[in-house]
Amino acid sequence: KSYTKEEYEDKIKSYKLDTYSGVEAFKKEFLDFIKNKPRKFAECSNIVNSTGNYMTNVKNNRYCFHAYDAENNAYCEHVWRGAKDCMDCSTAGRSVELIYNTINVGLQSSNVICSSYCWGSQFMEYCLNCPNSNNCFGCTGLKKNSYCILNKQYSKEDYKKLRSKIITKMKQDGNYGDFFPSNMSSFGYNESSAIEEFPLSKEEALVQGFKWENRERGTYGKETIDWNKFSDSIKDLPNDFDINKEIFICLECKKNYRIITNELSFYRRMNIPLPRNCPECRHTKRLKNRGPNKLWHRKCMKEGCNNEFETSYSPDRPEIIYCEKCYQQEVY
Ligand SMILES: [Zn+2]
Ligand SMILES: [Zn+2]
Repeated sequence: KSYTKEEYEDKIKSYKLDTYSGVEAFKKEFLDFIKNKPRKFAECSNIVNSTGNYMTNVKNNRYCFHAYDAENNAYCEHVWRGAKDCMDCSTAGRSVELIYNTINVGLQSSNVICSSYCWGSQFMEYCLNCPNSNNCFGCTGLKKNSYCILNKQYSKEDYKKLRSKIITKMKQDGNYGDFFPSNMSSFGYNESSAIEEFPLSKEEALVQGFKWENRERGTYGKETIDWNKFSDSIKDLPNDFDINKEIFICLECKKNYRIITNELSFYRRMNIPLPRNCPECRHTKRLKNRGPNKLWHRKCMKEGCNNEFETSYSPDRPEIIYCEKCYQQEVY
């Protein structure tokens, strides 16, 4: 609905977005409003011959998510800034190429497989945290090294011989190219971000060889704030309100959390109420608003259109999904 500038400002004011109740009511109204509005099959722009979601300026990317300025990548998330020819990677960018089954590489890394945090490194296999190195196998924590196996220095010739012996054995065992075994992880599956994209129950995770953290994280019952008695508007908080002394309780999971001075001044400046959820619950809510790193083949839901596409909206979701052309016609 269109308004004049004054009407618009009055309308915004009437929502009372400085209050918790106002924000909650507006969220409800907004969700209701978009219920029957068509959505675009994917949040992508300037993409050529690619499938995935949340991509800009990409070419020949297959099944990639959160990618920009990247080409010829497959089954990756967070590939950007000149990432080329990467497969099965999470976070690879800044002119990297030929990276396989690896987490977090950048700065001209190339020919890296089954490794993690090897920035500016080339020809690395099964290495962890080895920046600016090359030709290393099974190493950890090295810097500016080359021709090392299990952190031991070899001559170039000996390195080549031993590497080839190890790879022959790994190929016989059928595990060359597999990532490190899951039981080597220092964290429980439920503590890692893997659970956000691939949810598993404790039983399922243990069967797959992952650890599970049984200890409850966080504190409960120490809150000094009762949300029922707390001011609805950020404007009603007294100037001398000492946020460092207060412990908050999450309305969702009941966990305690704190809000620091800088956060409070941000909320005051933006005129928005204090969050009534703990940081973890806020993170989960944000993720829910984002599509999963998964694709389904579907047809455009606009009557008479036969376009098909890959989309992160599963067929059982309630949203109305349009192809690019129908969506553009609808919104412009
Ligand atoms: Zn919570
Ligand atoms: Zn269509």
